[in-house]
Amino acid sequence: MNEPLLDSFLRHVPVCEFKEKYAEDITNSSYFGFPLETLLKVEETLHDAAKMSVAYFSMEYGLSTSFYQPFSKAKPTNPKNLFTDHFIFSNMRTIDYYVSLKVDRSPDLPIYSGGLGVLAGDTLKSAADLHISMAAVGILWHKGYFKQNFWFKFGQNPEELDWDPNTFPGLIPLETIIHIPLKKEKISLRLWKYYVYSFDRQFAVPLILLDSNLPENPPSVQNLTAQLYRSDSAWWRILQRTILGLGGMKAMEALGYTLHKYHLNEGHAALAFVEKAKAMDDKKIETLKSQFAYTCHTPVAAGHDRFKLKDVQEILNTEEINLLKRFGTDPSQMGTINLTQQALNTCDVINAVSQKHGEVTRLQFPQYEKKIQAITNGVHHHTWVSAPMASLFDKYQERIGPWREDPRHLVNITRLKTDPQFRSELWEAHQQNKRTLCQLLRPWHVREDVFTLCWARRIAAYKRPSLILHHIEALLEIAHTLGPLQILYAGKSHPQDNLGFTFVNDMLNHIDSLNKEKDLIRVIMFENYDTYFGKLLASSVDVWLNNPLPPFEASGTSGMKAILNGVLQLSTLDGWFVEAADKNIGWTFGWQHQGNQVGDEHDLKMEEDSQALYDCLAAQVVKLYYDTLSEGQVRPESEWIDKMIHAISQAGIFNTHRMIQEYSEKIWHYKK
Ligand SMILES: *Cc1c(COP(=O)(O)O)cnc(C)c1O
Repeated sequence: MNEPLLDSFLRHVPVCEFKEKYAEDITNSSYFGFPLETLLKVEETLHDAAKMSVAYFSMEYGLSTSFYQPFSKAKPTNPKNLFTDHFIFSNMRTIDYYVSLKVDRSPDLPIYSGGLGVLAGDTLKSAADLHISMAAVGILWHKGYFKQNFWFKFGQNPEELDWDPNTFPGLIPLETIIHIPLKKEKISLRLWKYYVYSFDRQFAVPLILLDSNLPENPPSVQNLTAQLYRSDSAWWRILQRTILGLGGMKAMEALGYTLHKYHLNEGHAALAFVEKAKAMDDKKIETLKSQFAYTCHTPVAAGHDRFKLKDVQEILNTEEINLLKRFGTDPSQMGTINLTQQALNTCDVINAVSQKHGEVTRLQFPQYEKKIQAITNGVHHHTWVSAPMASLFDKYQERIGPWREDPRHLVNITRLKTDPQFRSELWEAHQQNKRTLCQLLRPWHVREDVFTLCWARRIAAYKRPSLILHHIEALLEIAHTLGPLQILYAGKSHPQDNLGFTFVNDMLNHIDSLNKEKDLIRVIMFENYDTYFGKLLASSVDVWLNNPLPPFEASGTSGMKAILNGVLQLSTLDGWFVEAADKNIGWTFGWQHQGNQVGDEHDLKMEEDSQALYDCLAAQVVKLYYDTLSEGQVRPESEWIDKMIHAISQAGIFNTHRMIQEYSEKIWHYKK
């Protein structure tokens, strides 16, 4: 007789307190509303040494669980896991005071901070869609990243985010506990599991999350997995990375997975190699390197982890320290351990995240030039396409191709360029998205016939968040001459990034100063930028503004979400956009990076580039918008609609299906 599905599942996946807490949600046929059968197939493949499997390590995962394939739960959602109330800071202060945005939505797993996490999430989703046998590991941040509150115009006030993993749909604690014995601390970690299902629910990628919040750990150790990227001291930073690297590798072993490649999403996880290399001789260590790959995500100094050797020596054991000294010693600073260096030395393949970033990475690490590849990031099309656009693509599927199964077919959308019916339906789909946004922002009188631009991303100095507000007079002049403007903003700054904080402050001040001009320029800043607002904004504004200082934006992915929805790009020449700048998907402005010096990330060129931005807005962007839309009526032959079509066609390239196919062929040499 066949064993019931549920029993086989529980044999592979020992759920902690199953009967008491999970029996309603995991049954013979269903895993929180999704087919349980799929998971058995996935677990069996991961345990089968004859089948190739890939391990993926990342500090953060943005899975957009609030809007993409949410799990269901028998019991009503715990209010602690609902984030419904969002405040706004605008140049209409009285409205902000009385009204907040109420968004009715299921919870978002709060274990990410920004683009790196969103990329990791989209990677798992495309891997699942393409039936790649993969197991991912990360950390269960039980206080999330942080909750952002604006403190009137005086800046951002970070608060702890309180959520409950025990009642989060789809998330399950395992009976498995692993131990990391260190010099002073002994860290125990509970393993949790979450499954990322493929679009058709026929395949999945398990995500294993490590949790130090256990009574057997001393309080300081319990808090190590509380807040993502806590950076008050070397102790915090080293131990969070130890948990991910050493702990992640131990977790994969404890679960009995047979893995052939280990992919490190950023250097944070570089200690995974150390765990695996312990007790190996030199010959074996050399072979081990061929199983490791590392994706480098940033040319910015703060993105590379450096620690004083003496701090590392306080924490890790001799064997681990010796491996770190051997592979991870920073060549430019004696007595410093550098995890980027460690990853460069111990991974046979390294990839940068755009072609431009490939060039920059080779400049930064010339001695590794030969093994540095460039594979441009992407976004998961099922997650980021808006409903009105998806139905339009479906309607024209015969001429586009099966874009849902393979997003590369989106390039064919250019075939519809001369179809007047399609052109007006495309504009209408966009307007429908814009109306949803205006509806939500009705108290602030946001209008669908007004030019709307958005800047939303992590607030870091090199991204120059306040560039468009640099000379308010110039902006007012554009609005006077061409028509009113609506500018939407969202973004968090890392709580310990003082320069980022200054930018938030600067932006809020500028916004506040526009109080009297609200009929010409409306500026609205959303609190607590997350993937939900990421999708809402990237699919519903007219123009997506991206103004990093070249060449410091390694890739950027929010613009890719925008082009998938026909939203035009206004960008400096950096990151992924370099590859699309000549494809007529928007406008390029500002200073351009050339030559073989990386340059100074602190020389922000605010003066020159804000001027270039205003010139481009006045002469081209806003002008074309109001030419396209006169008296609320659209001119379907407008060049604006050509650009929208070109933008969507480029989404055929800038997606994670294409990226995973490149990873498979060039890095993992994956065979089913
Ligand atoms: C997509 C996304 C990002 C990444 O955007 P960049 O363009 O890479 O800065 C960051 N945060 C959220 C919430 C996102 O949805």
